This record gives sequence, structure tokens and C-alpha cells, in this order.
Amino acid sequence: MDSYIVKDGMPYCLDDFFTLHARTCHGCDTIITGSYIEAMSNYWHPDCFVCQKCRRPPEGNENIYELNALPFCLKCYHEVASSVNNGRSKSQNKVLRSTEITKHHTVVKS
Ligand SMILES: [Zn+2]
Ligand SMILES: [Zn+2]
Repeated sequence: MDSYIVKDGMPYCLDDFFTLHARTCHGCDTIITGSYIEAMSNYWHPDCFVCQKCRRPPEGNENIYELNALPFCLKCYHEVASSVNNGRSKSQNKVLRSTEITKHHTVVKS
């Protein structure tokens, strides 16, 4: 038994899991073959679910700000939003609290 991944309380070996649930990372557009994060209706490598500007992962209880379906930290969100929304009406932006962001699917090494 090598690594496995748990989904809905059921363990799957990696081969079966990724055959059944092939996911493309929304951050880098490659197939995910390990731990991943489910957030904002998309799937992400843990390393890719970071602020899309400064590449910093959210810390602790930090909120993530969604803009154009991409995650940003507060500081970058304000910078990007002010340039994106320049002179236009606000697009729908969503604040995601860290506690409701994600389901974290972790590969368990046995
Ligand atoms: Zn990725
Ligand atoms: Zn940032």
C-alpha cells in the first residue's frame, strides 16, 4: 500500500482516485495528482491556492478575496480591484472566510 487519498470518508488509492476524479488545477491548468484544495468551485494544488499577485498562501484565519474567480489576499485584492474596476461598476466580488474556503483533500502516506 502506497499513498492513498480520503474522499467522503472513503480511502482510495491514488491511481483509482485520479481515474475517477481527475481534476485540473485552476491555478496552473495541470492535472492534480496529489493533495488538493477544493475552493471557489474549482480545484487547486495547495501550492497554487495562494494570492495570485504576491503568491502568498493565506495564513491562519486570513480571509481570501475572490476576484474574477481567482484568490487574492486583502492587500493585493484592493490593488487589483481598484485597477480592474477603474471607472466601471463593481463586478461581483466575494469575500471568502478562511473557514469556509476549502475542503482540503490530503494524500496520506502510509
Ligand atoms: Zn496548480
Ligand atoms: Zn497578495
